[in-house]
Amino acid sequence: MSSIIVVGHKNPDNDAISAAVGYAYLKNELARRAGEEAVFEPVRLGPLPPETEWIMGERGIEQPCLIESVPEGAKVILVDHNEPDQSIPGVEELPVVEVVDHHRIGNLETTGPVYFRNVPVGCTATILYQMYGEQGMTPSKEIAGLLLSAILSDTLMFRSPTSTPQDEAAAQELAVLAGEDIPTYAEQMFEAGADLTGRDAEDVFCSDFKVFSRGDAKFGVGQSIYMTDKSRAAAEELVGPFLPEASRREGLPMIFYMFTDMKTQSTDLMYCGSIAEQIVREAFHVEPKDGKAWLPGVVSRKKQLIPPLLAALQAHQK
Ligand code: MN
Ligand code: MN
Repeated sequence: MSSIIVVGHKNPDNDAISAAVGYAYLKNELARRAGEEAVFEPVRLGPLPPETEWIMGERGIEQPCLIESVPEGAKVILVDHNEPDQSIPGVEELPVVEVVDHHRIGNLETTGPVYFRNVPVGCTATILYQMYGEQGMTPSKEIAGLLLSAILSDTLMFRSPTSTPQDEAAAQELAVLAGEDIPTYAEQMFEAGADLTGRDAEDVFCSDFKVFSRGDAKFGVGQSIYMTDKSRAAAEELVGPFLPEASRREGLPMIFYMFTDMKTQSTDLMYCGSIAEQIVREAFHVEPKDGKAWLPGVVSRKKQLIPPLLAALQAHQK
C-alpha cells in the first residue's frame, strides 16, 4: 500500500512538526492494532525550529523527512494548517484525506471527501491528545514530551489569548506522561528557541512565517518569541534588515514580523512594503517609530494580529 504523509505548514513552527510526528504515530499505532500496515509518515516542508530540534535531540525522536513535493501515489494529511498558501505547492490537486487544525478556515478546495477536524483551541497537539483519548491510546513518553512542547509553544505557556482550558488540561496530563515539570520545561524550550547562535537572518525569519490572502490582498506575517528584552533586541537587529529581501524573494508586497516578548506579553512589530506603515497605523491605532510599532498585550498572530490587519487592508482597498 502506498504511503500517507502527514504534513504541517511551510516554515514550520514547533506545532507543525510535533503534530505531524504525533499524528503519524497515533495513526500507525491504530493501523497496527487493526492488523494493517503502518503507512503514515511524518514529513516537513522546512527546517526544524531550534526548540523542536532541542526537544527531539533530548528525547531521541527521529526527525521527519524534509520534502518539497509529495511522493508519487502518496495521500496527504494536513495538520496545523488548512490554507493552500501555507501548504505543499499544488495541494489542491493532491489526494488530501484528512485535515486536523485549529486555525481560521482558508480557501482549500479538495478533490474528494475529507475528514476535516478544526477545533478553536490553542494548539493542534491538544486536538491530537484528545484523539488519542477517544481511541483509548496513550502517547509514548517521548511523543508526550513533544506534544506538550507544542502546546507550550503555541499557547505561550497558556498566556496567549488563544489558550483554552482544554489546552491546559491536555498539557497537565502530557506533563505527567512525559515526566516533566511544565514551568521548567517551558523555560528550557523557549530559551532553546530564542538562541541565535549560528543562525542567520534567513533562518530566524523562516522559522515561523506564514502567507495570508483574502481577495486581492496577500501578505506575510512571521513571528518569533523571546524571553528577555536583550534577546528580542538582538533578533530585531538581525532580522529587521532582511525584511525587504524576504519580501522580494517571497513575491509579497507586504511583510510583517512579530518580535514577541513572552514575559511582558508584548510585541514589537516590524514591517516592509509601501503601504505597510499606514496599514499598521489603521489596524492598531498606534504611531510607528523607526519602522516598528510597539503593541503591548499583543502576542497572538491569529487572534490579535491577522484580524485587524485584514480589516485594515479591506478598508484600504475600498
Ligand atoms: Mn503552526
Ligand atoms: Mn498550531
